[in-house]
Amino acid sequence: MATSDSGAMKVVCPACGQRIRIPAARMADHPRCASCKTPLFGGHPVTLDDATFDRFLQDTDLPLLVDFWAPWCGPCRTFAPLIERAASEFEPALMVAKLDTEAAPAAAGRLRIQSIPTIVLFKQGRELARQSGAMPWAALSAWIQSHGVKLRTGS
Ligand SMILES: [Zn+2]
Repeated sequence: MATSDSGAMKVVCPACGQRIRIPAARMADHPRCASCKTPLFGGHPVTLDDATFDRFLQDTDLPLLVDFWAPWCGPCRTFAPLIERAASEFEPALMVAKLDTEAAPAAAGRLRIQSIPTIVLFKQGRELARQSGAMPWAALSAWIQSHGVKLRTGS
C-alpha cells in the first residue's frame, strides 16, 4: 500500500469533505474525521457528485472504487447491494463510492462512461481498471482483489 513520506494516508471525510491524514498503522482502528467526528469508514459507499468527485479522486491515497449507476437502470439496482458489500468487506483497504450519472453527468462524461453499471478502480487519481455490467459477488470480489486490494477478513 502506498504511503506518503510521512507514513500517513490521505482520505476525504464522506460527511464534511475535509481532507484527513491518518497514520498508516491506524487505518484499521476505525478512524474518525478530525473535524466532524464522522467515522471515515462507515461500511457504506460514499455518494459522490460532480462537486465532490475530483476532490475524492485526488485526495484519496487508498484505492477508490466508483460505481457509476443511474436510478432507472435495473441492473444497477441489482448490483447496488454488492457495492454495499464491497464497502463492508474491503474497508479500510479500499474506499467505495457511488456516482449517479444522471445527477452528475460531468464526471461520467469526462471518464467516457458508455454503459452502466460501470465500476472504475482508481489509485491516487489514476484509473487502474474498469469493468462494465453487473456481476456476481465472487466475480466482483475477485476483480477487486486482482488489483492488489485485500479483503479485511484476510487470507
Ligand atoms: Zn468530517
